[in-house]
Amino acid sequence: MLQFEKCTGCGLCIEVCPTKVLEKGDKLNTKVAYPPKIVDGKECKFCQECELICPDLSIYVIEVGKND
Ligand code: SF4
Ligand code: SF4
Repeated sequence: MLQFEKCTGCGLCIEVCPTKVLEKGDKLNTKVAYPPKIVDGKECKFCQECELICPDLSIYVIEVGKND
């Protein structure tokens, strides 16, 4: 999950993702940054690297349906 308005658009999450799930987004937030978006067709491996590297605690991972 992305907290769109907290993101500063630093791109660290994009760089660190081992499966290249993230790319620079095309929508500006109120910080005049482009938060990342998910690349079509790519699957997240839930490694949490993006979550750990984000300096602004703007992105976190949830595995939908894991406990269903
Ligand atoms: S949790 Fe998913 S989006 Fe985040 S770095 Fe890992 S594979 Fe990429
Ligand atoms: S690491 Fe955090 S602040 Fe930087 S682009 Fe990713 S979500 Fe935004």
